[in-house]
Amino acid sequence: MKFGGSSVADASRIKSVADIVISRAENEKTAPVVVVSAMKGVTDILLSAASAAESGDSLYKELVQDLKQKHHQAVKDLVSDNSIGVTLLIDIDAILGELAEILHGVELVKECSPRTGDLISGFGERLSSLLLAAHINDRGVPSEAVDAREIIRTDDAHGRAAVDFEVSGELIRKRMDTETGNPTGKSVSGDSRIFVVTGFIASTSQGVATTLGRNGSDYTASILGAALDAGSVEIWTDVDGILTADPRIVPEAWVIDEISFQEAMELSFFGAEVIHPFTLRPVIEKNLPVFIKNTMNPSAPGTRIARTSAPKDRPITGIASVDDVSMITIEGGGMVGMPGIASRIFASVARTGANIIMITQASSEHSVCLVCRREEAAIAAAGLEKDLSDTLHSGIIRSIRLNDGLEIIAVIGENMQGQPGLSGKLFSALGDIGVNILAIAQGSTELNISFVIKGDDKKTAITAIHRAFLSQRPRG
Ligand code: ADP
Ligand code: ASP
Ligand code: MG
Repeated sequence: MKFGGSSVADASRIKSVADIVISRAENEKTAPVVVVSAMKGVTDILLSAASAAESGDSLYKELVQDLKQKHHQAVKDLVSDNSIGVTLLIDIDAILGELAEILHGVELVKECSPRTGDLISGFGERLSSLLLAAHINDRGVPSEAVDAREIIRTDDAHGRAAVDFEVSGELIRKRMDTETGNPTGKSVSGDSRIFVVTGFIASTSQGVATTLGRNGSDYTASILGAALDAGSVEIWTDVDGILTADPRIVPEAWVIDEISFQEAMELSFFGAEVIHPFTLRPVIEKNLPVFIKNTMNPSAPGTRIARTSAPKDRPITGIASVDDVSMITIEGGGMVGMPGIASRIFASVARTGANIIMITQASSEHSVCLVCRREEAAIAAAGLEKDLSDTLHSGIIRSIRLNDGLEIIAVIGENMQGQPGLSGKLFSALGDIGVNILAIAQGSTELNISFVIKGDDKKTAITAIHRAFLSQRPRG
């Protein structure tokens, strides 16, 4: 059971989380393994403190004080037992003391490397896991906070480290097994403790702190679920499930009761932040269902992500979007039929580390378009200018252009397969409201049609598509 930042935003939310977890443990006679994010906003504060310290701004000291006050207040509201409270305050102050020392180091060396950034940004989860475990203990149910750096092993790609599943699996099973006497985390006698594991953070084999990327606590939960052969993974958040579109953009979006692994992966990859894009990787093979549930509305059924297929009456399943992307257009008549050009383009982009979200090629216009996040696109375009300078001089490539301020919209759904006329309806819905489409891509599986528009057109475009395809809420 993973609870996100808004689910642990303050003491009253943390109490609701404990209600859900404890009643699950009691009713089902199982001890769920719990994963928590940092309290809402804390990871952002930590990153601001790191950049303030790096630039010699003493604001970072105030930010550490704010964090101290926030967590001390939560202890006051969550723990009544004196000895639990004293121990918790000592632990919290030790962690914040360590944070202040590291930030002071950053101020002195005037540098915050990605490695140090990972160390700093993970402090929030260390604090929130202690808070929740102490509160559960305070209510008379045995609970223990676990630092995921002990049990999730990654490489050293700081900012978004890659998980070593084999080693992590062994560490996870060993850690949970010693305490519960049962590798599944399930309590046979009903007396096992509830582990509260830090989301988001991990470590290398050298013990260096890493992170799984922003929003990565969802991924932590599925790594644990797969390693422990759990019956299911539950992601508890602040909405009733996966909706047909981002509810902040389309208020009339509705909850999808059931969705396939593939469709949910496409939606998350294309920006539906309700789950981290890697969350489903560890569970698909094991066919472990994932539920998205609302901490503020626990009786709502939520969304079930599983091996399933979309109801046939549903033309599309959902719409997602990626903000603030840029398009690199490489153009030139000499590229046509010239072997090796594409591989040079992709090798050049790969060297810069930029992640390509979308690719299109139009042979009649002799162009290749690559879409990346803005900062990565600028670096990739500069790399291409350099690596392809010979072809620019010889005229094989005429130009390499960079367009900023764009948006990718992705329309997702298994039922789009073999549905003639669907793209026609899609693009005429956009044409009717005067939205210009700059590039289009469709995978051969027809699970996804994605296209690029100007960022300013985002809301009108998504609203129009929702109205054209998803205005009929399924009954029941
Ligand atoms: P948490 O803090 O629980 O991890 P997130 O903020 O990461 O929560 O993700 C939940 C948010 O994702 C929702 O509040 C919603 O605004 C946003 N969101 C974007 N697209 C979707 C979608 N298709 N369905 C549901 N929520 C979405
Ligand atoms: N606290 C981390 C973040 O804000 C991880 C998470 O919330 O999932 O990105
Ligand atoms: Mg999240």
